[in-house]
Amino acid sequence: MLGDLPAGSRRFTVENGRTVERAFDPRPPAAAEVLVKVAGSAVGAAPGAEIVGTVVASGAAAAEWMGRRVLVPRVLPCGECDRCRRGRASACPSRASRGAVATHETVPARYLLALEPPLAPTEELWRFAALADAAAAPYGAIVRAQVAPGDLCIVVGGGVRGRFAAAIARAKGAHAAILDGDPALRERALAAGARFALDAEALDAPAALASLHRQAQAAGVDSLEVKVIEATSTAAGRRRALLLVADGGTAALLADGDGSAPQADLDGIAESEAVVVGAAACHPDLLPELVALVVRGELPLAPETLALPFSGLAEAIAGVRAGRIRGLPILVP
Ligand SMILES: [Zn+2]
Repeated sequence: MLGDLPAGSRRFTVENGRTVERAFDPRPPAAAEVLVKVAGSAVGAAPGAEIVGTVVASGAAAAEWMGRRVLVPRVLPCGECDRCRRGRASACPSRASRGAVATHETVPARYLLALEPPLAPTEELWRFAALADAAAAPYGAIVRAQVAPGDLCIVVGGGVRGRFAAAIARAKGAHAAILDGDPALRERALAAGARFALDAEALDAPAALASLHRQAQAAGVDSLEVKVIEATSTAAGRRRALLLVADGGTAALLADGDGSAPQADLDGIAESEAVVVGAAACHPDLLPELVALVVRGELPLAPETLALPFSGLAEAIAGVRAGRIRGLPILVP
């Protein structure tokens, strides 16, 4: 092993609504693993598995990572199995298991992404934790929906994932439209890159679609190929997304749902030959493109990320749930 195991590592959990902090000894890295000192741990869909940091120890086969700043993707697939060979990283049965929120984590080196200057000089390192999943999941959905220049890309939900989706869709040359019932979130989505915004509560899906087509045509947008990114992972949002493509188009449904089942117009989907795809955690191979969007200034992280201390884990989760925190909380040392 290269490097030393750090002293004073701590792990954080939420018990009875409070953050509980415990000392632990990080696992020494195996040959192809590294130990990361966490600089930012995002409290998104998978707290503890969305980190950036610096490699402070490594196994013999991962020595070239020593001292590097790295982004650790949410899903770390084995890279060898049948599902991995088919590009289905999030379904890999041998993917690395991830720990709780902690100051250090031992992970396989295979899918790490180096974030060295001048590759990533524009933002503070901790903010890049947003790319491990919060921005990567909608990016994966946009790739799976094949969002192309000129498309009308309707994003259901103006939360963090929806706003990242809008910014990425714009960067890809599409015209992003946000559907959300909350006027404050619609405003934030417009600032993040959405070109149109509609009140999801006031309009049913056909009325919203008609209104968007009118706005798009008035704005000189010719292509009316509809791509829908469902970013709420709720039954209501998914129902809306499926209704929006009942006359044709493509809908990508983000994973991490709450288990509730939406009613869907499957006749409409069948007759219009619409495409519906699922989108779980993003494949790590797509992350360099996401970093490039940040470096080019097309995906600013500062407006969507806020730092909290590790001891603020409970407040971060409760704050997001209650709507007090509208951005992506990232825990920092
Ligand atoms: Zn695999």
